[in-house]
Amino acid sequence: MTVAPWQARYLQRMGIDLWRRRELSDASAQTPVVSDGVTTEAADQRAGDWQALRQTVSACRLCGLCETRQNTVFGVGSDSADLLLIGEAPGAEEDRRGEPFVGAAGKLLDNMLRAIDLDRQRVFIANVLKCRPPGNRDPKPEEIRSCMPYLGTQVEHLQPRVILALGKVSAQALLESTAPLKAMREQWHQVGALRVPMLVTFHPAYLLRRPEDKAKAWRDLCQVRDLLGGAA
Ligand code: SF4
Repeated sequence: MTVAPWQARYLQRMGIDLWRRRELSDASAQTPVVSDGVTTEAADQRAGDWQALRQTVSACRLCGLCETRQNTVFGVGSDSADLLLIGEAPGAEEDRRGEPFVGAAGKLLDNMLRAIDLDRQRVFIANVLKCRPPGNRDPKPEEIRSCMPYLGTQVEHLQPRVILALGKVSAQALLESTAPLKAMREQWHQVGALRVPMLVTFHPAYLLRRPEDKAKAWRDLCQVRDLLGGAA
C-alpha cells in the first residue's frame, strides 16, 4: 500500500520508519452516526444521562483524591465513539485543564490516532481515575475501586466497538489482573457485561521514554484499526 504524505508525517512524528499497515475498508474511517430508529426522546434521555454522570463525577468525594484535585477529568471526545481509549489517571497538566492526555504524551497520542485516520473528536478518551493522584504516584487499589463504577457507566453508555487500554495500570484495573503489560498485550480481551473487545498497548508517556517500543505500539494500533474496519 502507498503511504500518503500526511500518514508518513504522523508516523515520522511517532518515530516509526516502517509502514506495515494492512489494506482496510474505507468504512473504518467514517465518523460514527446515531443509528436509525433512535427517537428524539431517547436521544435526549441519553444526552441527559451523560450530562448527569458528568456532574456526578465533578462533585464526587468518594475517595481522598477529591482533597487535592483542581479539576475532575471526565474524558473527552464523541459520546457515540466506536473507539474508547482508557489511560491511568490525570497528571498535573490534565488536573489543571480538566482534560485527559494533554502535553507531550497527549501530542503523541494525537499523532497515534491520526496515523489510523482518527482524532480525539471521533474517539472517546477517559482514565480509570477521574482525579489526579498527588505527585503522579500510582493509583491505590481503594481509589480504583471507588472510581471504576464511573468508567463502567461510561462504557455502558458509549457501547464502544473497541477499547484500547493505555498502559499497565489501566489494563490491570480493567482486567482485574496483576499481570505485567507484556503478558496482557498482543491478545484480545473482553471487558464488562457488554464483552467489548479490548487490546492493551503502551502508555504514550512510556513511549516518550522508550521510543524503541513505538513500532510495537503501531502494530497494536493496526489491530484496532483492522477490527474497527472489519466490523463496519
Ligand atoms: S478519583 Fe474518582 S472516586 Fe475518587 S474522588 Fe475522584 S471521581 Fe471520586
